[in-house]
Amino acid sequence: MDMNTIEAVVRTEDPAEWRDGDAWLAGGTVLFSYGSLAFGKEPLRRLLDLGAAGWPAVTVTETGIELAATCTVAELYALPSSDVLGKRAAAWPALNLVRPCCDSFVASFKVWNMSTVGGNLCTSLPAGPMISLCAALDGGATVLGPGGARRTVPVADFVTGDGKNCLAPGELLRSIHLPASALAARVAFRRLSLSNLGRSGALLVGRLDADGTLVFTVTAATKRPVQLRFGAPHGAATSAAALIEALDAAIPAELYHNDIHGLPAWRKDMTYRLAEEIRAELEAPAGIPPVHISGDFWPPPQTPPPHTSPQHHTRRTASSQASSQQEGA
Ligand SMILES: Cc1cc2nc3c(=O)[nH]c(=O)nc-3n(C[C@H](O)[C@H](O)[C@H](O)COP(=O)(O)OP(=O)(O)OC[C@H]3O[C@@H](n4cnc5c(N)ncnc54)[C@H](O)[C@@H]3O)c2cc1C
Repeated sequence: MDMNTIEAVVRTEDPAEWRDGDAWLAGGTVLFSYGSLAFGKEPLRRLLDLGAAGWPAVTVTETGIELAATCTVAELYALPSSDVLGKRAAAWPALNLVRPCCDSFVASFKVWNMSTVGGNLCTSLPAGPMISLCAALDGGATVLGPGGARRTVPVADFVTGDGKNCLAPGELLRSIHLPASALAARVAFRRLSLSNLGRSGALLVGRLDADGTLVFTVTAATKRPVQLRFGAPHGAATSAAALIEALDAAIPAELYHNDIHGLPAWRKDMTYRLAEEIRAELEAPAGIPPVHISGDFWPPPQTPPPHTSPQHHTRRTASSQASSQQEGA
């Protein structure tokens, strides 16, 4: 789309350069498809292009994984099989979430290769799969402001509503830190969409930490992420009734999202159903029942892959992604 109100594109990652009428430009998949009036803001006059920031997409340390805001979906998808993980690949089973979350974009190869983790968080759509991933793993978002200001916000609190987040005008999302403690957890993933290869209507992630804490992260069904934590000693032994009670308390009716991709009542039903599936999966010993991935973008059940890990699911081809683009958009 032509952005005919733009007077300048400035290559910078310095929040001090930001002024009214500016927008940070990452992959551009939102800015260039919604145009200068994106999300009802005033017409944009300048784009501050992060393309030359040169931030390493992924940094792996003992304390966890640092994702640059400019890390693309394609770069993130490559992470689970990347050499940079070394022995940590085996120690961090929660990496199994990376590919299902990337696949949840159900996007074209253009979006896949250009859109960024930071752009997804900052767009703050309920069905933002990078939000699902980073919130579920207790990600911490580092936010930069003018004059060297720096703050950290839990990703679960970063998104505050449909298309809303905690960024003040001009603030820049620099990176997201995924802590090793969450990466070392056992995880379960569920996603549902109303239509084949459609946008997520409900996306839930369960995490069972080493200390026995059970964490549910609800996204897509709700306008913003909702997390439920069941501390030890109950943790994995949390009952179905306790889970229902916690969902009732945490998600009022008006928090369920309502758009063409699903009515609130359906999203609520699916949230309870998927949460109970996750509870049952993580209550059982690892591998019993086998890891179960729901969704509409993997091979059908009659041709199961040799392993059940999401890492072994086949990536769709560019052409099949392209044909699904309109539905996913
Ligand atoms: C066909 C299609 C399908 C899509 N499907 C989905 C979907 O299923 N789920 C979904 O959530 N989105 C979807 N999108 C929307 C979009 O592609 C994604 O949200 C994407 O991750 C945005 O990233 P980007 O890097 O392209 O952002 P950009 O377009 O560059 O920026 C988006 C917004 O975020 C701001 N921004 C970007 N980076 C930063 C930063 N580091 N700090 C502060 N502000 C920043 C920009 O100023 C702008 O307001 C889809 C888009 C298309 C075209």
